[in-house]
Amino acid sequence: MKAIVYHAPKQFSYMDVPDPQIQPDEALIRVRACGICGTDLHIHEGEFLAEFPLIPGHEIAGEIAAVGSAVKGLKVGDRVVADNTELCGHCFYCRRDQPLYCENFVSHGCNVAGGLAEYVAIKAEKIFPIHNLSWREAVMVEPTACAMHGMDVIALKPGNEVLLFGAGPTGIILAQLLRLNGAAHLTIAAPPGPKLELAARLAADEVVTVERGDYSRHRQQLLAAHPHGFDCVVEATGSPRLCEEAIQYARLGGQVIVYGVYPEAARITWSPYEIFKRELTIKGSFAQTHCFDRALLYLESGKIRVDAVVTQEFALQDYGLALEALRSRQGIKSAVVP
Ligand SMILES: [Zn+2]
Ligand SMILES: [Zn+2]
Repeated sequence: MKAIVYHAPKQFSYMDVPDPQIQPDEALIRVRACGICGTDLHIHEGEFLAEFPLIPGHEIAGEIAAVGSAVKGLKVGDRVVADNTELCGHCFYCRRDQPLYCENFVSHGCNVAGGLAEYVAIKAEKIFPIHNLSWREAVMVEPTACAMHGMDVIALKPGNEVLLFGAGPTGIILAQLLRLNGAAHLTIAAPPGPKLELAARLAADEVVTVERGDYSRHRQQLLAAHPHGFDCVVEATGSPRLCEEAIQYARLGGQVIVYGVYPEAARITWSPYEIFKRELTIKGSFAQTHCFDRALLYLESGKIRVDAVVTQEFALQDYGLALEALRSRQGIKSAVVP
């Protein structure tokens, strides 16, 4: 089959590789679409769990092409999405029922073969049939599952006032989930453009534009309109600078959620006195496990809208162009269609 294969950071090629052989508990998925997100840029750099050689692609949608001898409930031709995570079940954290912290965490597209190929083998227990979703919508199931986990971490109280930094594909989903799950007032702060317009149309009570060259403008606007700050500030841009300043918008007793994927070497400065004195809570949210079913409930019912998020498609051999589109902030999100 054809696949994108990384041999080392920044070095990938479009090449022929052997078709994956499925185990009895696996199914073979003929990939119809694979979403590309900021995580793929980190993997390109060799960060974020990346192990080489690697077929990338962690937002996988396609049709069942074959099922292993022990697989029940899936048949050839089913339209499905794949939860790209696998947990070992026997490490320190798995045995404490904290599988997200699995010490042998397997993530298709990050440290084992992913969906930027014609076929990918996935454990049947991690495959979810889809019904109403187009392929473009189906690649948003994985990001929605990650946002579901984010919601579990945030644990909003009904009536909370929330500030969300970022209106990328994940921000667009988080915004809708926040609105449906406790945010009485949602302010979205992000650079102007089609992403912010879509997030605003789907979920915002208030929109504040962030000028990349001049942060003083959104600072003034946010502090003037919200002198008591917000119950919850979610930093979903991945910008260390915005993460650093996010803390100043949290009200006393409020929380800051570190949600973006940041450069591993980035460092920021927070005042421990401020965290102490203002009783702030800082939380991280990383990936997801076991959130696909809830994500699908929101997506299949149309309560969470993702039909306008994927704005461009690329052929598999044009993966480099898809990365370039991401880097140059072209459109909202790309999908690769093998
Ligand atoms: Zn992703
Ligand atoms: Zn484990």
